Amino acid sequence: MNYIEDILEKLQTKYANEPEFLQAVKEVLASLKDVISKNEELYRKNAILERLVSPDRIISFRVPWYDDCGNLNINMGYRIQWNNAIGPYKGGLRLHPTVNQSILKFLAFEQTFKNSLTGLPIGGGKGGSDFEPKGKSDREIMAFCQSFMLELYKYIGPNVDVPAGDIGVGAREIGYLYGQYKRITNSYEGVLTGKGLTYGGSLIRKEATGYGLLYITDKMLKSNGLSLKDKTICVSGAGNVAIYAIEKAIELGAKVVTCSDSTGWIYDPDGIDLELLKNVKEVKRARLTEYAKIRENSVYHEGKGVWSVKCDIALPCATQNELLLDDAKMLVANGCLAVCEGANMPTSLEATKYLQENNVLFIPGKAANAGGVATSALEMSQNSLRLSWTKEEVDERLKTIMENIFIQIENACQEYNLGKNYVSGANTAAFLKVVDAMISQGV
Ligand code: NDP
Repeated sequence: MNYIEDILEKLQTKYANEPEFLQAVKEVLASLKDVISKNEELYRKNAILERLVSPDRIISFRVPWYDDCGNLNINMGYRIQWNNAIGPYKGGLRLHPTVNQSILKFLAFEQTFKNSLTGLPIGGGKGGSDFEPKGKSDREIMAFCQSFMLELYKYIGPNVDVPAGDIGVGAREIGYLYGQYKRITNSYEGVLTGKGLTYGGSLIRKEATGYGLLYITDKMLKSNGLSLKDKTICVSGAGNVAIYAIEKAIELGAKVVTCSDSTGWIYDPDGIDLELLKNVKEVKRARLTEYAKIRENSVYHEGKGVWSVKCDIALPCATQNELLLDDAKMLVANGCLAVCEGANMPTSLEATKYLQENNVLFIPGKAANAGGVATSALEMSQNSLRLSWTKEEVDERLKTIMENIFIQIENACQEYNLGKNYVSGANTAAFLKVVDAMISQGV
């Protein structure tokens, strides 16, 4: 049995109840066969794979908070510090009822590779809670965030671990978390990113993941003799990533005809009305049914269905495993040219394989959505320097980072004869950097 098979078999037995984590590890390790076999002895001697697939630590804690009726509620909170070989742990906090250890482990593992690709000095981590923010009042959100930080603050710091937003955590939640950290520690430091602009946040951070997704998509299309101009795009999700992906796609001359939320999806043949979408989702925090009520030609459907719409490019921007084999078949049948992941692991392993076999250009989330964490790292730099860069300056740096990520992927593809397998290219480039740092620092 080779090294990779050996590790996968052990993980399968030990973590059979953690499907998302196993899925993420399988995707990465399967794509590293060539690079690992070249140096198998060295990697075995340093137990590189054993160390890469296990976190430095998993912190879990109880989060008690009072709701508006005076009832005491209990949630679980987590922070997973995966790997700090190349910098302090860095990764978002997710608030969603589905949050569990398997999901956070997959996200923290992926984050380690993603952060490596950015070229910035940040390690991998992730955290969150099974708290459901939907339907809660501002006061309840604040009560939860304050209680969550009362435990979390012990384990984070600007040079230790710097959390940020993810699903269910935007500017409002980061504000409450930061206020509580400051109150407990009496220090004003860049311990969280995604902060508001009046207290240490970076311009473009809110837009960064969506913008970055389009920058790398554009670069990849150009490298394949294509362009975004006049392309039809299907986007899923209607949150932070989706909204700013739509904004940049429109700016670059494409037409986006779909978006979705956790209850249904919109088909808008005239192209998504961005201002209306922002008003429904960012201001009113309402369902997409509100969009369809106002926008005449748009149609709202319950459930899932975004990938049944004919498009040139698909950008899944909602959540994990939202683009499955049947969806991939529909995309291929409809002539889709490219799939670039705005969300983390939105495409299942089978769907990814099918898309690649059918020559659909595919960029995995760890590369395509790295713009968010990259700009978070730029926020950390600005906090350390105690100054703020202009919107143009941050945007330019973001664009350069995204283009460099694609160049790294292409170089790895060339060096290891991976063709246009950008999944393997991204994993290889990210792996080599982290592993070099791990070996240099000893056990
Ligand atoms: P948001 O909470 O802002 O938006 C998530 C969107 O996806 C919402 O429209 C939500 O619907 C929908 N959604 C969430 N869960 C499900 C589900 N189980 N089924 C169907 N739809 C769902 O999150 P983000 O936009 O920040 O994150 C989206 C994805 O991007 C996640 O995978 C995240 O990990 C990844 N990501 C985010 C980054 C960031 O900077 N924010 C950076 C890198 C990756 P509803 O409106 O009903 O809640």
